[in-house]
Amino acid sequence: MKFNKKLKNINTYEAGKPIELVVREFGIEPKDIIKLASNENPYGCSPKVQDAVAATLPNMALYPDDSMMKLKDALAKKYEVGKNNLIIGSGSDQVIEFIMHAKADENAKIVINSVTFAMYEIYARHVGAEVIRTQSQEHNLDEFYELYKRENPDIIFLCTPNNPTGDAIDAQALLEFLHKIDNDTLVVVDCAYMEYAAYKESAKKITPKELVDRFENVIYLGTFSKAYGLGGMRVGYGISSENIIQELSKLRPPFNITTLSLEAASVALEDEAFVNSCIALNFDEMKRYEAFANEKQIDIIESYTNFVTLCLHEMHKSTQICDALLRQGVIVRDLSGYGMNAIRITVGTKEQNSRFFELASVLL
Ligand SMILES: *Cc1c(COP(=O)(O)O)cnc(C)c1O
Repeated sequence: MKFNKKLKNINTYEAGKPIELVVREFGIEPKDIIKLASNENPYGCSPKVQDAVAATLPNMALYPDDSMMKLKDALAKKYEVGKNNLIIGSGSDQVIEFIMHAKADENAKIVINSVTFAMYEIYARHVGAEVIRTQSQEHNLDEFYELYKRENPDIIFLCTPNNPTGDAIDAQALLEFLHKIDNDTLVVVDCAYMEYAAYKESAKKITPKELVDRFENVIYLGTFSKAYGLGGMRVGYGISSENIIQELSKLRPPFNITTLSLEAASVALEDEAFVNSCIALNFDEMKRYEAFANEKQIDIIESYTNFVTLCLHEMHKSTQICDALLRQGVIVRDLSGYGMNAIRITVGTKEQNSRFFELASVLL
């Protein structure tokens, strides 16, 4: 059977191995498996969210509120933007997909960082667009600007803090960069981990209002999958000019967010205290990874997120290290596919991290 030619060279996105698969492959008990591979919040979500979702269960027969009024009101209030500046996706992944289909086709050019979130390229390939990468591992805005001048791209993706390296762009530098970009180029600022960066260092904090007030051609992306602890509910959002939101909305399938997910996300936004306590714990625990790396003389990239990236010594191969950890029930991310001999570890709970150090101190 023939398929769309554009799909030919796409590798299926490899998500962090689910616990279920490790149970089946290695016969390890689910309780002995620790997943530190997908940057989920190890403390889960606010108990208030669980109660609200439970209370919503009887409403499952009806289609969700497709205007998403409750969630949009909550987001508009939190970020001080209008409801018409918002689009909600089944994860911010879906918003990235809308962006790609709204702006790019097989003649389009997309500029992304050399090492960054894999989905930008996969969605670009869906539409047959050309993907151009920078050289530097960390976001270098001068280099992005050079590529912009040379290639006149349709979309630029910036990811701050960046996945999978954890570094973040300075907010001031970002604003200066955006001022130099013409209105025809759409700039996506993917802030999946912004809650962490903003907590750690105010100079890294980017607010959607600042972007929307100043730029017609910029979209801010956020998600409930990371700091809010709702990866399983699949809710993300884009914040941009009304014009861009209107175009993206043409691509949104009806009822793309379930009733339970809408409720969970709305209530999660109300419990800032819960999220902040998780973030504080995250950075406390991260110090242990820094100490571990220091002790082992392993390079660790300074992280503004809930994960750390260890750049391994040459004698250790990231694929083998990940495999050895997996066989003992600890799932982490191998970055060899990104051309790095490195592993990315989600900062877990105290106990989870202790288990990682126990195994890793033997392997590394
Ligand atoms: C996790 C992540 C997302 C999106 O996650 P969703 O679960 O689809 O909301 C987007 N960008 C980056 C960089 C991420 O790490």
